Formats: sequence, C-alpha cells, structure tokens
Amino acid sequence: MEKIKRFFECLIPVTACNLKCSYCYVIQRNNRKLEIPKLKYSPEIIGKALNKKRMGGTCYFSICGAGETLIPNYTIDIIKELLKQGHYVNITTNGTLTKKFDEIIKIDKNLLKRLNLSFSFHYLELKRLNILDDFFDNINKIKQAGISFVLQLNLCDEYMPYVDEIKKISMDRVGAYPQVALTRKEYLKNTNIERAEILTDKTKEEYIKEGKKYSSPLFDFTVKNFNVKRKEFCYAGDWSGVLNLVTGELRKCYAYPLTQNIFENIEKPIKFEALGKNCNGTFCFNSSHFLSLGVIPDLDTPTYGKLRNREEANWYSSDDIKMAFNSKLCETNHEYNMWKKFKVNVKNRIIISSTNFVKKIGLVKIIKKLGYKKHE
Ligand code: SF4
Repeated sequence: MEKIKRFFECLIPVTACNLKCSYCYVIQRNNRKLEIPKLKYSPEIIGKALNKKRMGGTCYFSICGAGETLIPNYTIDIIKELLKQGHYVNITTNGTLTKKFDEIIKIDKNLLKRLNLSFSFHYLELKRLNILDDFFDNINKIKQAGISFVLQLNLCDEYMPYVDEIKKISMDRVGAYPQVALTRKEYLKNTNIERAEILTDKTKEEYIKEGKKYSSPLFDFTVKNFNVKRKEFCYAGDWSGVLNLVTGELRKCYAYPLTQNIFENIEKPIKFEALGKNCNGTFCFNSSHFLSLGVIPDLDTPTYGKLRNREEANWYSSDDIKMAFNSKLCETNHEYNMWKKFKVNVKNRIIISSTNFVKKIGLVKIIKKLGYKKHE
C-alpha cells in the first residue's frame, strides 16, 4: 500500500449525458453540446505517459466528464491503464449505465482495490426516468466487487421537499445518508469563474439548515470554504495539477494561464513547481479535493476520506483506499525552503500579471488584425 505523491483533477471533456438536471454546471455554462470528443492519444499512451517514475510516485487521478464520464467507450480503458500503472483512480458517474459497471467489475480484483466510484445522486431525474432501482443496484454491484464508493448529492432547492425520501432510500439501500455538496451558480468571464453564489432562492441560512439535515462533513467543509479567497502558499502545480485527458494539457491549477502538454513526448520530464501565493481563483473551486488532500499544508483540514466515507456503512471497502484517502500530500513531499518559496512566488506573479495585462490590452486581437494567426 502506497500513499499519494501527487493528485490530479482530470477532465474528459465529454458533454453528452443521459440525464438533464436543472443545476448541472454544463447546462449553466450553456455547454450541453452532447459531444463525445475523440482521444488524441490512446489509453496505452496515456498510461505510459503517466507512469510512476515520470510522475514521481503513486498518484491519485480523479476523473470527471463535463457530461457523464462513463459514456465514452475509452473511459474504462483509461481507468485500467492508470490502475495498471499502480495509481489510485476515482470516477464521478451518474450511476445509470449498467453495462459499464458490468465491464468495470470484470477488471482484475487486485487493481480494483485502488478504484473508487463517486455516485452523483440525481434523485429527481432518476425518479422521473424510473431508474432509481437500477442506480442502487449498480452501487451494490460495485460494492460486491470490492470497489469503494461514495454517494453524493448536490443540494438544490428542488430536493428540499424530498429530504425524508432521499434519506430513507439512501439508508435502506447503502446504509447511510448521502454526502452533500453545496451547489453553486457560476458567473463566468471567458472560461474562468469570476464570481459564484449558492444556487438557491432561499437565504444562505435556510440553505445551510437544509444541508445540515444530512449530517455530512462534506457539506460543512464545502460551505466553510465557499468564496474564501486563498492567500496561503499553495503547492498546486507541484503536489497537484489539473489535467485534460483528451489533449494531455496539464495546468498547475484551474485559473493558471499556462499549460504543458505531457502526452506529446512521453520521454520529456514534466515540470512540477508550485504556484505559491498566487492562487488567482476567487476561491478554491474544488476545496474538498485540493484542500483536504493538503495542497496548503498550513491549513488544518479533515482528510479527503473523512469528508466522504461513511465508516458506519463501510463505503470504503478497500484498505488501500482507506489508507491513501486518509493521508496528506505533505507526508510524501517536502515543503520548499524560504528562498525557493520566494522565487516561485515572484515568477508566477510575473506570469499571471503579464498574461492578464496582455488580455486586458487585447494584444491577441491586435496581432490577429495584423495578420498573424495563433499557432494551433
Ligand atoms: S488554493 Fe487556489 S491554487 Fe491552490 S488548489 Fe485551490 S484553487 Fe488551486
């Protein structure tokens, strides 16, 4: 059993989905194009590109689509390749594609010990389509196969009249209430979140009171960190990254302007270096991943696993997942000395400020007007 050296939030930009939830971020961003993008690199190349030696150790890849993650046929092949490399993998899914779960449970049992499935509980859509039973049958199938899982609900106003139903069916079928995440309304500038509010017509207090009914540590954590600007030294870029699995583009974090392509030449070393005190997000958008894994070692947070596992119902059935998800990245990484911290702070400040400046004066448009094209 190995602890996590680096964490990667991985996107598969599939926008196809078989459900249509009102609060879906893809619908909010007007991006429901129902597309399944082609992989630029095969799952085998992706696996090799992300081998343990190149990545510096055992990593944790959390994979999510911009639609249903399991719709593309290649998703399961990528999962297998990453598990074969010895990494931990999480897949966020709407839990409805039964054939995909039948395929997943056939993977080698030894590999499945490092797989976790996060089932997004879209209660009203499941009810409307009359597939609630299929959803819970799929979770149980996964559990029987020794795969760890989490049941997670995005709290929104529509669910409020159904709180007792949701709690009862969850307790009956998976032994505990779902973990709950705050749902946000996003205001975007270009592709970045410029501002966010809780997606509700209730007051903040009423919304929080409703969320508390699920006794969910995940909810308390997402509320606590919502819209809190981070000013501490953050090791995103070194201990973590944001990776597009279709293109191979790796970013230090969501709002960082530069990328490196890590699939193009898999022999080339990857540059891992922290962003430092330069988080240019309005808040840590995925705090329950990044902050709980410990990208900011100065912050005292519950572990990733404590926010998700319902220990009383044994959702994490594998000891490997229990150990890895309850560790912190500072246990496998060294913090920088003062001088290195100073250097990365200055360097990234210059990069971010100059990119913002270029955007502001519209230099790109000017260059285009002069007849130069952006290199594709
Ligand atoms: S604090 Fe900022 S830079 Fe660090 S992980 Fe969160 S969003 Fe990324």
